[in-house]
Amino acid sequence: MTEEIFNNQIDKAKKNRTSPLQDRLNRLLRLKEWIKDHQKEIEKALYSDLKKPSTEANITETSFVVMEINHALKNLKKWAGPHAVKTPSIMMGTQAYIQAEPKGVALIISPWNYPFSLCIGPLVSAIAAGCSVFLKPSEHTPHSSALIRRLVAEVFLPEDVMVYEGGVSVTEDLLTLPFDHIFFTGSTKVGKVIMKAAAKNLSSVTLELGGKCPVVIDKGYDLKDAARKIIAGKFMNCGQTCIAPDHVYVHEANYEEFISLLIEQLRASYNPKEKGYDQTKDYGRIVNENHMIRLQDLLNDAQNKGARLLEGGKYSIDNKFFAPTLIDQISENMQIMQEEIFGPILPILTYHQLDEVIEDIQNRYKPLSVYVFTKEEYVEELFRSRTSSGSLVINDCNIQFVHNELPFGGVGRSGQGRGHGQAGFMAFSNPKSVLKQRTGKTLPRLLYPPYGLKTKGLV
Ligand code: NAD
Repeated sequence: MTEEIFNNQIDKAKKNRTSPLQDRLNRLLRLKEWIKDHQKEIEKALYSDLKKPSTEANITETSFVVMEINHALKNLKKWAGPHAVKTPSIMMGTQAYIQAEPKGVALIISPWNYPFSLCIGPLVSAIAAGCSVFLKPSEHTPHSSALIRRLVAEVFLPEDVMVYEGGVSVTEDLLTLPFDHIFFTGSTKVGKVIMKAAAKNLSSVTLELGGKCPVVIDKGYDLKDAARKIIAGKFMNCGQTCIAPDHVYVHEANYEEFISLLIEQLRASYNPKEKGYDQTKDYGRIVNENHMIRLQDLLNDAQNKGARLLEGGKYSIDNKFFAPTLIDQISENMQIMQEEIFGPILPILTYHQLDEVIEDIQNRYKPLSVYVFTKEEYVEELFRSRTSSGSLVINDCNIQFVHNELPFGGVGRSGQGRGHGQAGFMAFSNPKSVLKQRTGKTLPRLLYPPYGLKTKGLV
């Protein structure tokens, strides 16, 4: 069955090469209409899976995808080309351009933390590029996954898009097929499995992976502004965000004031009447028991090795509730500094000189994002030139994700390739180089044997 659908998708992908762009635009318009008509159902599924607050679901899941669709609708013609290129003197008389063509059949594998947008967002790029698609949503968010299956069945034909639900074994089966492109969003560990499987068929890959995103607050920066933005970026979706601040470096002279502001901001955001962090509707839940235990272990290990609890720290495995938690007195031997936290625990570290922080970032795996709060241009420049990351954001957190003119992705262990907007379109496209020569004309004679007649002037 799967192979039959795969072959049908190959046939459809061939047709997509010559069918008008309007067909792709129509598919995108149908997708957009469905999302708009089913907004409440999408929110409900996200609530069932992650107790996601509806405003958060709206901003980070549905609105994000609708924005991606609108951007593609507006720009598809321009992205597709042809894009003429300049003619170098040696090629005088020829014409050349780049024409984007669909790669063919794509596999999109998505994670559970933003189960709608991280599945449907790449789908928008794949449809815009003219690919046929196999979608594999995460098995850990079954309500969202079932809704995505319904969406696809109601909006697309199986030869255009097909959903495969299930866990590791389903993905392993799919990975045996010779996809033209695999777009994977998930952990670094599974990213390696995907790349290995892709190598067997030489499928190209986009890997959107994880990492530890550091935040640095320069000495002279407005601490209140930093606290507000860090709390929002970290605790949205209970810290289960790939680009969430992982840990914070603050100058030792600002430390006490910053901690008070951070706690104040945290309480104002999620515990306004001091009824407890589990009482607000604006704070979701951890995806499952395994992740609850993982986070509990991280916190216990840190505390056993001397970390101090500043705020939060309560959790209930039964309710999958883990309070927003701040800790300090951090040391490198703690597990929490070795792996991506991916949950609502924020370690706060101090520094004496920015050089120490830069060195610390350089010594770790390259992160998806580095966040620097500073008023000084030379500090921006220091981090831009001396640290490597998928993105660098000055004076805010997480907002780079929604800038649809900025390619999104990681570097090294945090990923490879880029998604969103035109970069997403290009991930699923082959930029074909087309060159036209005139009949009866050649490049300079020296390229034709017998050689050695006119070699003067060669480098
Ligand atoms: P995961 O790697 O466990 O799972 C992702 C997908 O891979 C799921 O669909 C899952 O079914 C499949 N999978 C899991 N194990 C597999 C295996 N052995 N073989 C084949 N397929 C397998 O990731 P997750 O727990 O769903 O998501 C959390 C991770 O994703 C975090 O590390 C986070 O940083 C990362 N992430 C990255 C981005 C980004 O854009 N860079 C966005 C969101 C999440």
